[in-house]
Amino acid sequence: MFDLKGQIAIVTGGANGIGRGTVNCLNQAGAKVVIADLDQYKGEKVAEEVDGDFISVDVTVEEEMKHLFKTVNERYGKIDILCANAGIFPQVALSDMTVEDFDKVLNVNLKSTFFSVKYVAPYMKERGYGRIVVTSSITGPITGYPGWAHYAASKAGQLGFIHSAALELAQYGITINAVQPGNIKTEGLIEQGQAYMDGMRANIPLHELGEPEDIGVAACFFASREAKFITGQNLVIDGGQILPEDPGAIL
Ligand code: NAP
Repeated sequence: MFDLKGQIAIVTGGANGIGRGTVNCLNQAGAKVVIADLDQYKGEKVAEEVDGDFISVDVTVEEEMKHLFKTVNERYGKIDILCANAGIFPQVALSDMTVEDFDKVLNVNLKSTFFSVKYVAPYMKERGYGRIVVTSSITGPITGYPGWAHYAASKAGQLGFIHSAALELAQYGITINAVQPGNIKTEGLIEQGQAYMDGMRANIPLHELGEPEDIGVAACFFASREAKFITGQNLVIDGGQILPEDPGAIL
């Protein structure tokens, strides 16, 4: 759909789920993709399948993130696209939520977005070109769910972050946008249990949970050269889940 031939892309959390779907889409569009993930076994497997590369990284560790971008730039001479996607969504009620629970989710989901953008930017600035796509969520910026107060805060925080980052990066030809998935069938979502998934499916006007590639396609759009006039924006991809004012509105 988009021509990304010759481009170098990095996807954090690319070993599984939405990241994996994004890797597939970028690869089909012709990009060389580096999977940056904690999951070495799956990451190496995906890299082999798409003739890409795998770099083991914990997105919460500043030095590892600096090392990731330095290594990719040394190996391939440039970085065109970064998909800052790695994230976690453990559920815990506010009454039981500890400071450690809160910090962990904010670190993996939001602080990692800061590390990703801060440390990839110098390589993109050098060439006057870059595309950054952040994986946010509908949960937080638009909807809420019991047990996800920390998660919701992190996902809304990512959107706040990109608004200011977009202004700082625009002068260098770098765009930054966000995808906001609804309920997408991933390893992480399956862990929430069948009852959760059935409940969500019943509230989606298109009557299906999303596939990881549904998000990958949108990420590819923001990552394309053609999306050059779009920055600081976000796109909901949720099968219409946020639309109904009442469950009866789903036909
Ligand atoms: P997933 O299936 O659990 O995959 C996430 C990947 O990120 C895994 O490979 C995981 O590795 C990796 N990861 C986790 N912590 C990491 C860290 N500290 N450093 C590096 N890699 C790390 O999750 P997903 O459902 O695809 O979610 C991906 C993103 O989409 C997240 O930002 C999530 O908030 C967002 N999202 C998902 C949905 C949905 O319905 N699935 C909806 C809205 C937003 P391990 O497996 O080794 O932990």
